[in-house]
Amino acid sequence: MSTYDPDNIFAKILRGELPAHKVYEDDDILAFMDIFPLSEGHTLVIPKKPSRNLLDIDPDVLCTLMRGVQKVARAVVKALNADGFQLRQYNEAAAGQEVFHTHFHIIPVREGQRPGPRPQEMADQEQLAAVAARIRAAF
Ligand code: AMP
Repeated sequence: MSTYDPDNIFAKILRGELPAHKVYEDDDILAFMDIFPLSEGHTLVIPKKPSRNLLDIDPDVLCTLMRGVQKVARAVVKALNADGFQLRQYNEAAAGQEVFHTHFHIIPVREGQRPGPRPQEMADQEQLAAVAARIRAAF
């Protein structure tokens, strides 16, 4: 199994080297908008401590992360007035993982809606900023 690459995109976001539309941050986790949203409000939650995925993450870090996932999911569902949400998480390339820093996808869903497919183009930055502001206001 490969080791953690400190130059992955999410590590760069954590270090402030790349921008992100942040919705929540504390000592342990960061949540921000996915730039290729599968539904409006698609949010990613990551731990600040480095790990590739669920195969190498420290169990205590995972527990803290899951508490954060619940907190962020509640705000996302409230802000988007969603009827539910999908929680997705991929481990290693064979399973569809593209960014090798542990992350959970929170994908809000409305009744009758099916999230996806992945958009061809990055979402509009102003729209992402606006939805991030709605989510921040929902905590
Ligand atoms: P996966 O590793 O398969 O869970 O996919 C990584 C996710 O990160 C995809 O949904 C991408 O749209 C998303 N993504 C990639 N780069 C960025 C970025 N700079 N900011 C926010 N989301 C990103």
